Amino acid sequence: GDLVGLLVERSIEMIVGILGILKSGAAYLPIDVTYPNERIDYLLEDGKVALLLTQSEYLLGLSHYDGSLFALDEELEGLATPTDNPPRVNKPTDLAYVIYTSGTTGRPKGVMVEHTSVVNYITWANGYYFSSGQSSTLFTSLSFDLTITNLFATLFRGDILRVLSPTDLSVTIEEVFRHSGVVKLTPSHLQLLSSLGLSETAVEVVIVGGEVLSKGQVKELELLNDQLQIYNEYGPTEATVGSSVCKVMSDAEQITIGRPIGNTVIYVVDDWLNQQPIGVVGEILIGGTGLARGYLHQEDLTEEKFIRNPFGEGRLYKTGDLGYWNGEGALEYLGRKDDQVKLRGYRIELGEIERVLLEYAGVSQAVVLLQEGLDDEKQIVGYYVKGGDMDEGLLRDHLQAWLPAYMIPGVLVALEHLPLTPNGKIDKQSLPGIDQLERDQSYVSPATDTERQLVEIWEQVLGREEIGVEDNFFELGGHSLKAVQLVSRVQQQLGVDMELRDVFTYFTVRSLADQLERAQAAGRQAHYEAIVPVSYQDYYLVSHGQRR
Ligand code: AMP
Repeated sequence: GDLVGLLVERSIEMIVGILGILKSGAAYLPIDVTYPNERIDYLLEDGKVALLLTQSEYLLGLSHYDGSLFALDEELEGLATPTDNPPRVNKPTDLAYVIYTSGTTGRPKGVMVEHTSVVNYITWANGYYFSSGQSSTLFTSLSFDLTITNLFATLFRGDILRVLSPTDLSVTIEEVFRHSGVVKLTPSHLQLLSSLGLSETAVEVVIVGGEVLSKGQVKELELLNDQLQIYNEYGPTEATVGSSVCKVMSDAEQITIGRPIGNTVIYVVDDWLNQQPIGVVGEILIGGTGLARGYLHQEDLTEEKFIRNPFGEGRLYKTGDLGYWNGEGALEYLGRKDDQVKLRGYRIELGEIERVLLEYAGVSQAVVLLQEGLDDEKQIVGYYVKGGDMDEGLLRDHLQAWLPAYMIPGVLVALEHLPLTPNGKIDKQSLPGIDQLERDQSYVSPATDTERQLVEIWEQVLGREEIGVEDNFFELGGHSLKAVQLVSRVQQQLGVDMELRDVFTYFTVRSLADQLERAQAAGRQAHYEAIVPVSYQDYYLVSHGQRR
């Protein structure tokens, strides 16, 4: 029942760590190695983690951690493979893992999931989606419960799980579609398919989940293979990966989120918990074996979200999602009741970003919106009002210290005051959209070789021309996926070291060029040659040798 932290890159050590923790009777708390230090410290503290499994390269950065550290790579070296299986110590109601999701209070919240919930989902998935002999790839973060499908469904079947270490997302998706028999991913991953130009795939079954699946994305998949089985799976972390599913037919008029999976009930209710008739919109409530135990150390929030089931036994989770039953008995998804959003597959509470903005000295008010900018690309935009002396230059550093890259606003806008509605509430509709925001009107051409090379890379990544050295990457339609592409191209083409988070600090060509030149002068040569090649070995894992 103890929580053991797992701060490792995708690698063989990750799998050994997960299985070791579970077999010992403990539960794992995955911590993404790309998270900023403050967030990592928060998770360790909030989870009361007394033992952290990691890899030797992270030991230095964890020197202030006062629990026990165990570097899997060092400890496992030379260890013989055990031939006996440890006795089973877990009960169905023991905790299997705690996954943190974005929280409106400004800090993430831990969702406690028990073995029975995972086993229910996996058993169902292996009976419904998959057959034995199908291989899969582990390529998403262990901090998202979507990863459970590829990971545990494959291990439960005893099939081949390829573990892909982090690299350019397009390369990743291409590898996945070339080598996996089955794959679980988000619609945002599918968005990359069109640029890959794949003409065939090894994949037989695709499960898409986590956000709205569009017909265009389904078409893209069918172009690859018209025999593909495609499923749209819906579910929050609080109900363990997937709660309902719809088999997507190519001629279907509407893509629904389908019907409940095994041992699961779903209700659509109004604000007074009355069930809505067919066709009438309400909040989606989920019950059954998949329900999490609750939020770690947050009893009030747990009681608020996991309510007694007024229609039967057990509890129901109030998802905050809106939907209705259609005439065929399937659920249609209509969006959220609140300010939770999905951006490129990531679940984000805009309120968490607002709170982190407000914690910065000198920010008196803050509103964060998801805005559609140029090219229909969505961006997080942070609006704030200064309430006194404030060092704007360090505001981004503050955000980066607390938030993962995908939650950092691409665009920050200082306003004199926030517009109000007649009844005194913040009028979000009247906040300037990204397209209205004043861009540097004057085109400034590149002056140095580095700037010229960077402009070229930007133009490839953003699919635009005439990019000036003072244009903002995010205002031009850049986002975290494109930022990943940018980083990998800069590493390959310029041969300099660059971190994803640099894009959020140096978001103009000029500032990035300065930074890269400074870094180069300081002798930080890239390890990129170790990162780029991606190859697979069944059962064995891709490791990029010199990890950064
Ligand atoms: P997460 O906890 O990260 O899995 O996010 C759960 C939320 O993602 C749900 O409450 C929905 O708002 C959204 N979601 C999950 N699956 C789907 C889907 N298939 N279609 C539309 N939205 C989805």
